[in-house]
Amino acid sequence: MGTRIGVVGSNMVDLITYTDRMPAAGETLAAPSFAMGHGGKGANQAVAAAKLGGDVLLVSRVGDDLFGGGTIKNFQDLGIDTRHVRAVPGTQSGVAPIFVEPSGENRILIVKGANEHLLPADVDAAADDLRTCGLILLQLEIPLETIYHTVAWAAREGIEVLLNPAPAVPELDVERILSATFLVPNQTELTILTGLPAETPAQAEAAARTLVARGIRAVIVTLGADGALLVTDGPAVHVPSVRVRAHDTSGAGDAFIGAFAQHYAANRDVQAAMAWGASYAADSITRPGTQKAFADAATFARFRE
Ligand code: ATP
Repeated sequence: MGTRIGVVGSNMVDLITYTDRMPAAGETLAAPSFAMGHGGKGANQAVAAAKLGGDVLLVSRVGDDLFGGGTIKNFQDLGIDTRHVRAVPGTQSGVAPIFVEPSGENRILIVKGANEHLLPADVDAAADDLRTCGLILLQLEIPLETIYHTVAWAAREGIEVLLNPAPAVPELDVERILSATFLVPNQTELTILTGLPAETPAQAEAAARTLVARGIRAVIVTLGADGALLVTDGPAVHVPSVRVRAHDTSGAGDAFIGAFAQHYAANRDVQAAMAWGASYAADSITRPGTQKAFADAATFARFRE
């Protein structure tokens, strides 16, 4: 199996406005500051894996607008193969306007834009390159038909798939993703997938077992500060988190998955890859932001000392 990682997924530009308060309807308010960042779950996971030295091929769509070129350049600067990151004429890039109040409370809107135009035919067009990958990562910020198509194609090709069912989409047809090798939900997503509670590790294990019984080879439930749980048809394995002073946990799930994928693609050791992912996610939450909080290999090596 190849060590290349394919990511078929989204990218977004985070548009972050820091405000003293939210304006009322019809009100115009001056806000003290603004920041932009590269985000989107597919992009975040691709970037985490690439920053750790993973060989990453990304299949994604941007708009033919101001943001598209900068998004592609960011990927290229990180060594990601962008031959299948293309602009869709007449569309806007995906954006996430985020409003942060002094308390840290945030309000986020997601406008998927060009991400909605990543279609099954685009995966087919990338098939020759995706075939060189040993693992394909998927999340739910692109059309569900593209997810189902990629899962089915990868099963026919014998390529392993990791599906991160995030953000939770109640319409996801679980029957159509059962051939995924790894399903990696957080506790909320696991509840939406199964209709079962997943607040405690024991509940999460029971809920994940119902998915394994339906055919998923391995469910990895991320449990926030409680680490992660691997559920297969054998005994469950708990991987603890690494204790840190959490500063900003946004993007922790993407850091975990990107690092897991990079380690797993290179070593094919699930538990070691989970421990690596937990450690990488812990380091990332000590800094603000998502992609910019993800360490490169040298910085991460220092964190692990
Ligand atoms: P997000 O939506 O914020 O990106 P998530 O809900 O998808 O995150 P979590 O389960 O919160 O994902 O976190 C993913 C992994 O990050 C966990 O499995 C754990 O290893 C690590 N992690 C998260 N929060 C903490 C924390 N407070 N301390 C240490 N590790 C953490």
